[in-house]
Amino acid sequence: MSQPFRASQFEVEKPLSQLSTFGIGGPARFFVEVQKTEELQAILSYCHTQKLPYFILGKGSNSLFDDRGFDGLVILNKIAFCQFDWPLVHVGAGYSFSLIGSQTARKGWAGLEFASGIPGSVGGAVYMNAGASGVETCETLIEVTFVNEKGELEVFKRDQLDFSYRSSPFQKRKGAIASAKFLLHPSEEARKKQLGIIEYRTRTQPYSDKSAGCVFRNPESHSAGALIQQCGLKGKRIGGAEVSTMHANFIVNKDRASSKDILELAAFVKQTVKEKTGVDLEMEIRCVPYQMRDNVSG
Ligand SMILES: Cc1cc2nc3c(=O)[nH]c(=O)nc-3n(C[C@H](O)[C@H](O)[C@H](O)COP(=O)(O)OP(=O)(O)OC[C@H]3O[C@@H](n4cnc5c(N)ncnc54)[C@H](O)[C@@H]3O)c2cc1C
Repeated sequence: MSQPFRASQFEVEKPLSQLSTFGIGGPARFFVEVQKTEELQAILSYCHTQKLPYFILGKGSNSLFDDRGFDGLVILNKIAFCQFDWPLVHVGAGYSFSLIGSQTARKGWAGLEFASGIPGSVGGAVYMNAGASGVETCETLIEVTFVNEKGELEVFKRDQLDFSYRSSPFQKRKGAIASAKFLLHPSEEARKKQLGIIEYRTRTQPYSDKSAGCVFRNPESHSAGALIQQCGLKGKRIGGAEVSTMHANFIVNKDRASSKDILELAAFVKQTVKEKTGVDLEMEIRCVPYQMRDNVSG
């Protein structure tokens, strides 16, 4: 049974620009950080009974907040334990996904090398079914511990969950991922592979700019970045937002960009690609509205 929660524990008017890798967003009306699953249970149960809209935040590396902020509670997931019980790894949803990728590879375990360099949390990676180098999060995932909207714990085995490209069943569920278990396999090549992935990423992606990763999903049998580049859009700017000159599927916050600048530039890119190539691009970034109609995060 979780402890009752007191709203006096909320911070108010927390600037969301500090909590997103885009560096964009107005204040959250209420804000709280959770370090334990029981705290997450208590807070979600409180939100449920008080009908308080909430947004679950990991490392904010795939989220675009509104310039007005968020009219509800932002719950920052900092459940960051990590237990190695080879070949199993059990990790809190707030743990760094990149770190688990490098830690496991360094110890000679394969399966999560691709995570190295993805600047999200484990919860965000499961929620987004993050992927790179032809591998997705769901491939090594075997179990997810989830807190539902009433604050109750649910444990899902991998075969109960349907994942697809950048899509997970959690995108349609109210509640929050608390932890995940992954099954790895021993490999002498793991560390070398992980270092190769990091080298490739830092050479091809704009890590020194503020962004939220790829703006658009890759359409079937196309690369969104290649289509955008082909349309001559690298370097295109609206306000402080720019199509990265390094990787065309990244929009970067070059100079105090607003959420509106990013959205206008993304709309311009989408329209130009449609006109010139006939391909309809779909957003991958989660745009967080100022007011949430229901509590399905993102
Ligand atoms: C430089 C850069 C490179 C990137 N490269 C890649 C890449 O190669 N591949 C890739 O797939 N992505 C990439 N990304 C995007 C991003 O890092 C991933 O999508 C990551 O998994 C998001 O995790 P997060 O914790 O930052 O999510 P957030 O931005 O915090 O949240 C994203 C969504 O997940 C939900 N969420 C987060 N945590 C939880 C939880 N515990 N329970 C329920 N819902 C939750 C949020 O509500 C939101 O809807 C990149 C981003 C950047 C900035």
